[in-house]
Amino acid sequence: MEKTSDTRQIRCPKCKEFYEFFIGPPRACPDCMAKREAQIEHVRKLIRGNRGITVMELQRQTGVPTSFIMKMLEDGEVEKFSENVSFNGKIL
Ligand SMILES: [Zn+2]
Repeated sequence: MEKTSDTRQIRCPKCKEFYEFFIGPPRACPDCMAKREAQIEHVRKLIRGNRGITVMELQRQTGVPTSFIMKMLEDGEVEKFSENVSFNGKIL
């Protein structure tokens, strides 16, 4: 692929593959970003369908690390759906 001035090859922090980086915050390669989106969507669905689900249970069912689930909640990437989610027995 021909290089232009606004793209460069950087290494994905997650899978260590090189990818073409465009303008914007460098986060991860398209593959990892797609995987991340899929994880967020999976967690969202479970929260919607399971009132009072715990973060531990979300992790068990999705395989997504609890730290990432907590970050999703903090960043508002998944809604809590009226305090649907609890962590160690505490409603978030
Ligand atoms: Zn990657």
